[in-house]
Amino acid sequence: MGASAAETQTHFRTCNLCEAMCGVRIEVADGRITSIRGDEQDPFSRGHICPKAVALKDLHEDPERLRQPMRRTANGWEPISWKEALDEAARRLHQLQSERGKDAVATYLGNPTVHNPGALLFMPQLLRTLRTRNMYSATSVDQLPHLLASHLMFGHQLLVPIPDLDRTHYLLALGANPLASNGSMMTAPDVRARLRAIQQRGGRVVVVDPRRTETARIADEHLFVRPGTDALFLFALLHLLLERPRLERLASFTDGLETVRELAREFTPERAAGPTGIPAEVIRRIAREFAEAPTAICYGRVGTSTQAFGGLCQWLINVINVVSGNLDREGGVLFTRPAFDIVGGPRALASGRGGFGRWKSRVRGLPEFAGELPVAALAEEILTEGQGQIRGLLTFAGNPVLSTPNGGQLDKALTSLDFMVSIDPYLNETTRHAHLILPTPSPLERSHYDIAFHVLAIRNTARYAPPLFEPPAGAMHDWRIALELQHRLEVLRHGSSVRRTFKYQALKRMGPEGILEVGLRAGPYGLRAKGLRKSLSLSALKQHPHGVDLGPLKPSLPQRLATQGKRIQLAPAPFVQDVTRLSEAFPEGTAPLSGNELLLIGRRHLRDNNSWMHNVPMLMSGKSRCTLMMHPEDAKALGLAEGDEARVTSRVGEVSVPVNVTDEVMRGVVSLPHGYGHRREGVRLGVATKHSGVSLNDLTDDQHLDALCGNAAFSGVPVRITRV
Ligand code: SF4
Repeated sequence: MGASAAETQTHFRTCNLCEAMCGVRIEVADGRITSIRGDEQDPFSRGHICPKAVALKDLHEDPERLRQPMRRTANGWEPISWKEALDEAARRLHQLQSERGKDAVATYLGNPTVHNPGALLFMPQLLRTLRTRNMYSATSVDQLPHLLASHLMFGHQLLVPIPDLDRTHYLLALGANPLASNGSMMTAPDVRARLRAIQQRGGRVVVVDPRRTETARIADEHLFVRPGTDALFLFALLHLLLERPRLERLASFTDGLETVRELAREFTPERAAGPTGIPAEVIRRIAREFAEAPTAICYGRVGTSTQAFGGLCQWLINVINVVSGNLDREGGVLFTRPAFDIVGGPRALASGRGGFGRWKSRVRGLPEFAGELPVAALAEEILTEGQGQIRGLLTFAGNPVLSTPNGGQLDKALTSLDFMVSIDPYLNETTRHAHLILPTPSPLERSHYDIAFHVLAIRNTARYAPPLFEPPAGAMHDWRIALELQHRLEVLRHGSSVRRTFKYQALKRMGPEGILEVGLRAGPYGLRAKGLRKSLSLSALKQHPHGVDLGPLKPSLPQRLATQGKRIQLAPAPFVQDVTRLSEAFPEGTAPLSGNELLLIGRRHLRDNNSWMHNVPMLMSGKSRCTLMMHPEDAKALGLAEGDEARVTSRVGEVSVPVNVTDEVMRGVVSLPHGYGHRREGVRLGVATKHSGVSLNDLTDDQHLDALCGNAAFSGVPVRITRV
């Protein structure tokens, strides 16, 4: 922190509240934050921030954020010491596993985990110690299809092709609203300016979405698509692109083109037109534009992942980018080269490559991916008796009651657990069921380096920030909580030993900084990197508080591939086999969209990030955002007008919510934002409770999944609507 006036100090860091990694400039006087602005000198975000940045201050100062471990008793929550809390958590987890088997304890990691370097570096070791097959996370809520496609086609779940937004001439975005998300699975601060720049250099932005989103509003063209049918649209595009494939240099290391050609034969634009609602001639024109653009990107996000054919969608998106010659090409989609390289770095630091279907969930037989089971199975694995039934749960920074399908069922299931411990700073809809809560410090009380999002960023940069504030006495960092639990569990299981104590002490001394230093030095810009005047290390980064620019994404294939023989697998067997399911679901001649059927989709607002910022007063001010968007024709048919209360019923639940009549959604589609539904007994979130709204996941269905990988299919949940 540098002093810019007698009592005002200026601190530079990366905002960790969403994927965009914006640089922020924080001014502090007398120990309190006086301003948060964009850091103009950040080489990546160039001064951009969104309204959520203020949450850094509010989260830090939130009086409801827990600051010491809590135990639930018959008389309510009581504070306890760290030693007592950690000993009890480890003892009870160990006891459950000893008595009922390893799988009796489940784990759930929420989305904030990936925004926290300490958690990313230390939680995997705790999970490995638990050795349970019941591991769950937010991955199977909305991004498993991306990771599966990367794993099967490129050999590593994190080899995700990233859109080269700053150099492309054509962006075809499906089910993505980067103006609200600032890019997702595509870290791109100030997306608005980057999309405008595509248009200014004569390019086009086309959005395909059942809702005219904020991104669609600034696009050159928006096409409404019926929820759940994107795979047909993508297949029709592929069908047309394969008339003249342009793999060029990719051809020499790509397998499976003929299989893909065979599969695409039946999916003509005419066949896609009825179910998708996009006329065949429009699909032909889009395919022509895409093929003729000097460079082009096909990109799909939440809407294309969270549907019954989400896996096929992400596979098809990759195939389209390959056969049009846009994979590994400037202006197309490329792989990143992050300074801390969890894909290609040293084995000890690298994240898992993946692995698919090595075991199945006990009750429904859903497939494992990268050691995790789909979270839609969590409630039934708790509720169904038998060998391997979950009786204990460890959650980390997650609120699955609000964020996973059929959250109402999970809410009830959690009450039946023998033991639950949550590492979390809030008493929220999920952690209220815990027996122990181990709170973590505020993001400003820890150092920050974005380990995950540099892997997904549209430009290679690196930035480190030390803690802005010292954590209060007695606070414990996330990584330290994970390490303490891990060590205690190991000692309980195997007894104390010199080797074990040495390992624990060594990791404690190292902390996240020590591991970062090793990873950066061993990375592509580290000690061994050629052509750099100075090698990159944590110490070097500390000299650059605004971060360092490591340049635009560069072609890296086939060397960067992690498949056997370094070849792109265009037609992995699981996707090939799943095409039959698509074909049977939409036989030739499937009827066009009928206005009588109502399909529910989610949405996100720029001021929301899942459920975890709803206790920030400034972000919750103004008109309620938790409304049911409905097309005027549908509203008229149901006798509903703006502001009326509607009862929305799905197979699993029912909510009442005010209607917002708008032609922003297509006929037959209704939309609710996700992350709401805070008014539940025992929750200690005063602001969020005042703006509680209803939970989309009280309607989404744990049985409505992508059968290929088990990802939740939130997009296109059938609902009935009546006037309250
Ligand atoms: S876009 Fe994301 S990273 Fe940037 S300021 Fe907003 S919340 Fe922070």
